[in-house]
Amino acid sequence: MYITYLGTAAAEGVPAIFCDCEHCRYARAAGGKEIRMRSGALIDGVLKIDFGPDAYAQSLRFGLNYVPVNHVLITHSHEDHFSPDELARVIPPYSHRKEPLRVYGDARVGEKIAPYLKEGLLTFTQLEPFKTYEIGEYKVTPLQAVHALNSGEEPLFYLIEKDGRSLLYGHDTDFFTDADFDFLKDRRISLISMDCTNGILTDIRYIGHMGINKNIALREKLLSIGAADENTTFIANHFSHNGLVSHAEMEKRLPGFLVSYDGMTLRV
Ligand SMILES: [Zn+2]
Ligand SMILES: [Zn+2]
Ligand SMILES: [Zn+2]
Repeated sequence: MYITYLGTAAAEGVPAIFCDCEHCRYARAAGGKEIRMRSGALIDGVLKIDFGPDAYAQSLRFGLNYVPVNHVLITHSHEDHFSPDELARVIPPYSHRKEPLRVYGDARVGEKIAPYLKEGLLTFTQLEPFKTYEIGEYKVTPLQAVHALNSGEEPLFYLIEKDGRSLLYGHDTDFFTDADFDFLKDRRISLISMDCTNGILTDIRYIGHMGINKNIALREKLLSIGAADENTTFIANHFSHNGLVSHAEMEKRLPGFLVSYDGMTLRV
């Protein structure tokens, strides 16, 4: 497998749409890896994870298209990850495609996409945590995210397996639940991508995202239970302008991790 990170920011993007803070000014001037669009990824060019407001612009930015994509895994219904109206462009007259686009996610995602669904063209399947599904050529298991607490939504994150390789796309979630750890134990996952929204900030009380301190602790925990081993690639991803430093500086502060950037492609 390979994964392409199309967008690596939290909801406001980096630089943030309306912000002129020190980091946003730096990012605008520096360009390159410091420009981060809203969150999403693509596996092998065919399996899309999340489809937010920048998904179309990202396809143009990186010279790809979504025509070969038949399956879209949505992690949760937050607007930076999920634009149901954009997915509905698969329906005529916006597209002349014949193959249905199949969207998967939690119950809230199902409610939000319901008005757009069209038999044989745009379908939705609700997924349950810790059940394994055959989706395209992949085995996909949703896990239980710690995110959007008290919203009534039960967000998911995904373990994706193919050809003996595995990828854990942990967005958006805080430190995993005990049920997640029980499921992941001894799986020796090939690549693990973690939420780093809080960046270098360590005094955040909000539950639902992580920063570098929790990423480092979670890496240790996953190694200790055999969910990961010395061959596992760890990625920090999904950054906010708050608590963000330059890409190079973030890599220094996260030993054992690669720091994502828009367009980063990794063989899994
Ligand atoms: Zn997010
Ligand atoms: Zn800012
Ligand atoms: Zn979110």
